[in-house]
Amino acid sequence: MPRNKTVLISNKLTDVLFHFKNTDELQLIAGCTGTDLNTLKEKSVSIRTVPELNSIERHERYIEYGAAVTISKVISSGAGRLPSFLIEALMSIGTEQIRNIATIGGNICAKGIKHTLWAPLLALNARLEIKDSNETRIVQFNKFEGVPEKNLLTKVRIPLEEWDIQIFRRIGPSNTLSPLSASFTFLVETQRGMIANIRVVFAGNTVFYSPEFENKIIGTRLPLSEKMIDGLIEEAKIVYKEEKTFENEPPIVKAQFLNLLRNSFEQLT
Ligand SMILES: Cc1cc2nc3c(=O)[nH]c(=O)nc-3n(C[C@H](O)[C@H](O)[C@H](O)COP(=O)(O)OP(=O)(O)OC[C@H]3O[C@@H](n4cnc5c(N)ncnc54)[C@H](O)[C@@H]3O)c2cc1C
Repeated sequence: MPRNKTVLISNKLTDVLFHFKNTDELQLIAGCTGTDLNTLKEKSVSIRTVPELNSIERHERYIEYGAAVTISKVISSGAGRLPSFLIEALMSIGTEQIRNIATIGGNICAKGIKHTLWAPLLALNARLEIKDSNETRIVQFNKFEGVPEKNLLTKVRIPLEEWDIQIFRRIGPSNTLSPLSASFTFLVETQRGMIANIRVVFAGNTVFYSPEFENKIIGTRLPLSEKMIDGLIEEAKIVYKEEKTFENEPPIVKAQFLNLLRNSFEQLT
């Protein structure tokens, strides 16, 4: 740790929120695996040892994790209960040593490129609890645009939904992040030979998530024909083009996304 920097270790959530309120420039750290120690602000506060942020509550339809629960603990506590594609996503993060320290909250709150859990949690529409010193807000992942300054992500509620088709893939290097990293999640629920529900999310430097695109597919009869898949890929290209932030993505990212999407639709033929 650089000598001229102070790290406050808080054991109480109220203390963290108090420090936030009363210190102008205070950086929050959790596992610190996604934080460059050389760029730490003069004062930072660690939330690793706050009991409320390390809780795991199991319910019939969801599991609620404190934001400082490590990736390894999410995996061990969720094995056999969390959807298998999410376990796959969690297992793909870093090495075992990194997963033992890195937190679920840090993965969601990290700035810049969307980290590995973003696509699966958006596809599941996880629920986030965010606090500041005055209030607690519950935000659905599909409305989440990052944690505002001086706010703290406190809980992550993950629904225990079963999907008939669950696909998780990553592009870019395995077990680490690069500017070309992105995650892809494709979930389908079928009923009486039809697509009853579908979620398609691709998240890296930019996010492909379009309820309109999904709504166009819901109700489609199975199996999908090659012609239908071609049509859906053309629709996806339009959504991709309309999303201005995709303009700066290298063409390889678009090609990889469309390949993943085509391969996923082919599971429905
Ligand atoms: C070798 C290596 C490999 C890696 N591989 C991957 C990978 O494959 N996939 C991947 O996604 N990441 C990877 N990472 C990045 C990182 O380890 C993970 O994203 C991790 O989940 C970050 O969690 P953390 O607790 O260490 O976050 P920290 O570094 O402590 O925090 C990250 C950011 O989130 C903010 N933050 C943390 N918790 C909260 C909270 N509760 N409320 C508000 N803000 C908060 C912090 O202020 C900081 O800005 C890797 C890192 C390393 C070193």
